[in-house]
Parts: sequence; structure tokens; C-alpha cells
Amino acid sequence: MTANKNLIKGETGDWEIVIGMEVHAQVLSESKLFSGAATAFGAEPNAQVSFVDAAMPGMLPVINKKCVEQAVRTGLGINAKINLYSVFDRKNYFYADLPSGYQISQFKDPIVGEGKIELDMPDGSTRTIGVTRLHLEQDAGKSLHDQNPTESYIDLNRSGVALMEIVSEPDLRSAEEAGLYLKKLRTILRYLGTCDGNMDEGSMRADVNVSVRKPGGPLGTRCEIKNVNSMRFVVQAVEYESRRQIEIIEAGGVIKQETRLFDNAKGETRSMRSKEEAHDYRYFPDPDLLPLILDEAWVANIKATLPELPDDRKNRYMRDFGLTPYDAGVLVAERDTALYFEAAAKGRDGKMAANWVMGELFGALNKENKSIVDSPVSADALGGLLDLILNNTISGRTAKEVFEEMYSSGKPATNIVQEKGLEQVSDVGALEKAIDDVIAQNPDKVTEYRSGKDKLFGFFVGQVMKNTGGKANPALVNELLKKKLA
Ligand code: ADP
Ligand code: MG
Repeated sequence: MTANKNLIKGETGDWEIVIGMEVHAQVLSESKLFSGAATAFGAEPNAQVSFVDAAMPGMLPVINKKCVEQAVRTGLGINAKINLYSVFDRKNYFYADLPSGYQISQFKDPIVGEGKIELDMPDGSTRTIGVTRLHLEQDAGKSLHDQNPTESYIDLNRSGVALMEIVSEPDLRSAEEAGLYLKKLRTILRYLGTCDGNMDEGSMRADVNVSVRKPGGPLGTRCEIKNVNSMRFVVQAVEYESRRQIEIIEAGGVIKQETRLFDNAKGETRSMRSKEEAHDYRYFPDPDLLPLILDEAWVANIKATLPELPDDRKNRYMRDFGLTPYDAGVLVAERDTALYFEAAAKGRDGKMAANWVMGELFGALNKENKSIVDSPVSADALGGLLDLILNNTISGRTAKEVFEEMYSSGKPATNIVQEKGLEQVSDVGALEKAIDDVIAQNPDKVTEYRSGKDKLFGFFVGQVMKNTGGKANPALVNELLKKKLA
């Protein structure tokens, strides 16, 4: 089970990294978990705050059905057990941006129990990571320290926004796996439409628990790195933190369980508070809220509306289009990419379409930092170009030139090919003449070839292509050349 390639070499031998993640994902919903205030990103501070969110005395929370549905949907999407009975608890602590003095969360009885998430490894294999639970909770407000030199302000827009906390088992074994886990979870949430996954806007953030141990040994003491907000930072944080722990242990020290911060600019983790300073939250069931009881049929209804999820879609691409696991994994990672690919591949050669999407198209889009929905070449337009290759109107090489022109001008492939006279020459007479010319111009090479220097064949093909301005049908040139040189 232990993937040996993940072991880290230390001075006292090999070390294994163990990681478990707690991901906070903001529920996609128009309004908050227990109030009707809006959740849209980027509003003026305190423009989206109800009396409940501001914890005015006597205000009562009312559960938002949509948020419950989103949590159940997410649970079903990660193959998890849905708990028909769950309880909202008060998690008590004082903080300036938490006016009620407690956060409503779920502790002993979460809405979703054990599930699993498949990682798509770069070598095409998969790894199953256990999910311990998913629970619903409220977000807190935000302290603003950069608006005034001497005062701090509070923005309660986030206060009461619904979050899903998704806790993994300590099953991850490398920085890379931690990054892939977050990536896959984000893909699933986006497919489900339960979280927008915008990490820059804080819609998803991860607490990363890291420990190290000798391979096969008991689990080591962990440190928790709070609020890491990008895939890249998760990878960097695990790399730094595991190295730090190994160095301490190898120097004869012990790891103290603590909460740490990741400094994005320096790429290092720093102590925030130790276990001894950890809060006692004095959880107890919120007396303002009844236990949440779900109807089995309601859950079944939600299950019936789940879209095709990334793993199923990946398997379908491998089966129906003959794609490799890696290519299929890349194409399904974003739903928009998958839809584009399917439209371009429909009724054509799936492997060819995949190569064009992942090669030329991604290349062009990446250069301009554009997403596929803003592609100047639509899926249909790319399909049109593929058709011209498939029916031998143009060669694959010419097609790359045509693609560039399509990308910059927005014109369809057929127009560009006609305007520029790029049609492939498949006329046998014309090709034979071009071949005869090349043979006549290179008598020495012909002799060498005939006396056994097979490698020269490529040279002849190259010359014919050159003399026809790259427009000769390569398959036909090969066939005719073989005959003439025999
Ligand atoms: P707590 O109740 O203190 O938050 P949990 O048992 O809920 O602790 O675990 C929190 C997270 O830490 C989970 O994602 C879990 O997988 C992870 N975790 C637990 N033990 C370890 C360990 N020894 N090394 C790395 N991660 C761990
Ligand atoms: Mg926890």
C-alpha cells in the first residue's frame, strides 16, 4: 500500500509524510445558512447583513433548505453516507468578527458521514482517499485592518454564510497528493454546482494537517496549517512543514502539536498557537434549532438529479474515445473543457480531437491566460478544421497553420484554406511529377537508398513536401515514393 516513491530521505533513513485535510467550501446559495441576507461576492461592507447575522438579541435562526440540499448533493457526489438525523451545535468562542460569541456548526452528528474521493495521478493510476465527514456551519465576519491607520473595522457580509467543512482521513502521502486532493474535490464541487471553487475569492480554503513517521510506523504528532488558499500553496506548505518536522526529529527534538500559518510570500509555516492554548469550544446543541431530520425520498430525489461526475465521465472518455487515463483526466477536470471536447469530438476521431484541444488550443489559450469559454475558436469551428484533416483536404501540418489563423481572425477553417489555396494535393499525376523531379535531382541519394540505406526515405518525403509547398498528401507521397524508388 505504501507508495515508496513518496518517501523522503533523511539523515536517519526514510520518512513518510502523512496528511489529512479539512476543506472549507462556501455553499453556492443566494442566501445565508440561517438568514435571508444575500451572499454575493464583492458587495459594499455590511450591505448584506440581517439582524440574525449581526446577532441582535432575540433573533432566531431559520434553516435554509437550499443549503441543506447542497450539502446532501455534495455528500452524494463523494459517495458518502447521508445522515438522515443531524444536529446543529454552538461552538463557543470570542472574536471581534463573531458578534454572537458562537458559531453554529455540527459536531457529533454531522449531515454527511464517510465517503471517498479518487485522485487522478499523473501516471494515469488512481488513489482512493477516505472522507471522514462533511458538516454544515456558518462563516464568521471579517476584520478589516487596512482601512484606517488607527482603527479596525468589521465587515459582517460573510457572517452567517453557509460553509461545508469536508474532513479527510489521514490518507494523503505527499505534497503532490495533497494538491491533487484539493483539485479533485474542487472539480467535483463545481460539477455538482454546490461551490464555485473560486479560491482567490475565499470560496474554498484548506486546513492542512501534516505529520511525518518512519514508513509503516505509528502516526506522528501533527501540525495544522490554517487557511491555505491555493493549490500551489498547499503543495509548498506540505513540502516546507514536512522538512521542518524531519529536521527537528532528526536533531533529537519532538514535534509539538500546534496550529501554524503559511506565509505565502516566504513559502514557510509559522507557529500561531500551541495545543495548550487551544480553545475549549464547549459545544452544545443550539437550543434555537431542532435536530435536522431528512426524508429518505427527498434524498433519493436529489440523487436522481446528480450530473455525470468527473470519474464517470473520465471512464466514458477512455471507453468511447480510446483516450489514455491521463488525457481523459485532463479533459474532465473542468466541465467547460469536457463540453468543448465532446462537441469537437462528436462524430469524429476522439483521440485526434483530444490532441488538438490539449495541444494547440490549450497552448494558445494559456499564452493569453484565457479560459476555454472565451476561446476565439469555438468547438464547432475546431471540429470543422478536424473534418478537413480527416477528409484529406489539408495535412496535419497545414492544419496547425490554419488553426493559428482561425485563432487570430476568427474565420472558419474552410475559408482560410480556400483563400490561401492550402488544399492538399492528392492528384496522383501531379504528385508523381513532383516525385520524378526529386529523383532526377538526387541521383546519388537514389543509388544509396537502393543499395540499402533505408533511412534516406525520409529525405525524399521531405523534398517532395518542400517542392509542393507542404501541400502534398503525405500518405499518398509515401505510397508513390515507395513504388518509384523500388
Ligand atoms: P481535531 O478533532 O483535533 O480537529 P481530527 O481527528 O478531526 O482532529 O482530525 C483533523 C484532521 O487531521 C483530519 O483531516 C485528520 O485526517 C487529520 N489527522 C489526524 N491525525 C493526523 C496525523 N497524525 N497526521 C496528519 N493528519 C492527521
Ligand atoms: Mg477538526
